[in-house]
Amino acid sequence: MIFASTRTPTDRVTFAEGIFRGLAPDGGLYHPVSHPDLSNVIGDMNAATSFAELAGEVVFALLHDELSRSDAEQITRRAFPFSPAIVSLGPRLQLLELFHGPSCAFKDFGASFLAACMEHFLGARDRRAVILTATSGDTGSAVAQAFHGVHNIEVVILYPSGRVSPLQEKQLTTVGGNVHAVEVHGSFDDCQRMVKEAFVDQRLTSGLSLTSANSINLGRLLPQSFYYLHAAVQMAPARPVFCVPSGNFGNLTAGVLAWKWGMAACRFLATTNANDVVPHYLATGEFAPRPSVPTLSNAMDVGNPSNFERLAALFDHDVTQMRAQIEGASIADADTSATIARYHREQRMFLCPHTATGVLAAERYRDRHTDASADHPILCLATAHPGKFLEVVQEATGEQPPLPPQLAEALARPKVAVPMANQLEPLREFLLDSF
Ligand SMILES: *Cc1c(COP(=O)(O)O)cnc(C)c1O
Repeated sequence: MIFASTRTPTDRVTFAEGIFRGLAPDGGLYHPVSHPDLSNVIGDMNAATSFAELAGEVVFALLHDELSRSDAEQITRRAFPFSPAIVSLGPRLQLLELFHGPSCAFKDFGASFLAACMEHFLGARDRRAVILTATSGDTGSAVAQAFHGVHNIEVVILYPSGRVSPLQEKQLTTVGGNVHAVEVHGSFDDCQRMVKEAFVDQRLTSGLSLTSANSINLGRLLPQSFYYLHAAVQMAPARPVFCVPSGNFGNLTAGVLAWKWGMAACRFLATTNANDVVPHYLATGEFAPRPSVPTLSNAMDVGNPSNFERLAALFDHDVTQMRAQIEGASIADADTSATIARYHREQRMFLCPHTATGVLAAERYRDRHTDASADHPILCLATAHPGKFLEVVQEATGEQPPLPPQLAEALARPKVAVPMANQLEPLREFLLDSF
């Protein structure tokens, strides 16, 4: 497989080059140049095929120019000691739980695979790298967990002091080892600016091999297709409608990739909160990014979805083609909260606010479409564990959701963070002194 920038089709890279570059030099996103047909690979699998096994087969099928079969198996075994799970929610409606990884959100799949790939490629070349990343809370914990203990890599995570939840702060600052948390006295924007400045600072880039692990990285996008494929194999011969709570639209893009490669899917339902730039595009054909507004499902508060470039490319930049495969929905906070309350009341089940937007959109879709039959069940992606969003869930249900053991352990450990002013100089000094 070869990848090219969404903005300069002649800027072509291998997978290994793409994951260390992150963003293309022209600001575009790396994206597959062509789409292989995996239907034979998928056809050989059945409901007993484990997630790691499927991932190994798919990685080899996609990247056999760069990885041997045993490399592919080793990488996926290392990346995925956890698996997705399908649970029933009601008639023709199921949840695909993606929160059984170390940080209890679906971003674990992408971060963990990227970490395993970087470790593999660095080890093969006897090189070292420093991952530098800024977080407003959620992505940082997935990166911290995924890269913990990975050989040849040091991880530095900048977060804004006092502006992440207490639980998120513990998830970032209690990992230790090769993972270093930097508590910046400033905003998330300050953290992002410091990272951007570091990447173009001559003294840093000449001495260190700096790289990012942010969500647009190819190494995070590709593995998100594996759980769609795995779910489709589990549900065969039914062709599910996948309902995807979306913010930057990486998760949805990965599902569309899986479909391009031959996955049996009926269609996709893209759910947002009030930040409904993509549903608006699907309705009107006009793509109009705007500043995000805060909502209860804050990991989806995105006003200019970064993966839209990739999604549009998959449909030849034609809204009519996109509409044939993707339906949009936007859910208001009051309805999100009411949905969390209703599932708790009726089924004693806790939903995270992101998942709740998807579940409500899926119910409405089911009521509207007669094709939501036994042949086309709806599978809603559960993007995070409800225990990660204690305050919102408790407010809606009047009860505290259970904390998964991973989070309870992080809460019990002492915080270790390097306090820092919101300037490049102390960051440069810290990096040059430490690595
Ligand atoms: C990141 C995130 C989302 C949005 O995913 P995208 O790939 O950005 O669309 C949804 N829910 C949770 C819990 C998240 O962390």
